[in-house]
Amino acid sequence: MADKNVYLYQTQSLHDRLSDSQRSLERTKTCIEGAFDRINLSVDVEIKSETPDPPQEEYRDVTGSAPCSSKCSSWGWLVGWFRDWLDCENLQSGHDKHDDVSVLISNTDETSGGASFPRCVHVQAGYHLSDLPASYENSGTGDPHAAMDTVLHELGHSFMEDTSTNYEHNSGNTDRTSSSSTKYETTPMGAIVGKDENECGNDHYYDKGPSTGTEDVNYRAIWSECCLDEWSPYAYQD
Ligand SMILES: [Zn+2]
Repeated sequence: MADKNVYLYQTQSLHDRLSDSQRSLERTKTCIEGAFDRINLSVDVEIKSETPDPPQEEYRDVTGSAPCSSKCSSWGWLVGWFRDWLDCENLQSGHDKHDDVSVLISNTDETSGGASFPRCVHVQAGYHLSDLPASYENSGTGDPHAAMDTVLHELGHSFMEDTSTNYEHNSGNTDRTSSSSTKYETTPMGAIVGKDENECGNDHYYDKGPSTGTEDVNYRAIWSECCLDEWSPYAYQD
């Protein structure tokens, strides 16, 4: 049995938009598996055939019919609607609150998302995920890699043992190859621009100077040691 289990869902709207209806799910699965290949934990990523049909696709408040009900209701963020949908479809029974995460990929062209508890995640930008390369790449620029960064970011939150930690949004390692580089690198949990160190006390910038905020972002599709220490002290792989 794998250490972690990820269940991938796409909305009906995304399914209908893609000419190859499974492509976003398949590319996302490949990237998650590639990132786990580089750490000391195993993963099982399962593509689910159910296609939830939320009242809207964006990462914002939702008002509409409740899942399994004709009653009108509202949720703060789409991830709240997704949690209720999973419950009413009975798709989370037996899930472990630390090791199992359900992910909803929706049909927008923005790249953001959110996590909620028990472990479920919403990521918009499903169309960009369909443009990821067919095999895992450990870093890249542009919308597809930004979308994948969001998936790995929300999984990063979900697998943290202590959800009250301050590490959540400043546990990343970033690097610039030179002080004049136009590339700025970041790992999924990010780094606060202008701070010299992340929450683990590691340098963000490796003596090359802080980001000016104007560089192209190179998204690294692997979690930092600092993030992985929040999952499990054994997750990091040298
Ligand atoms: Zn976050």
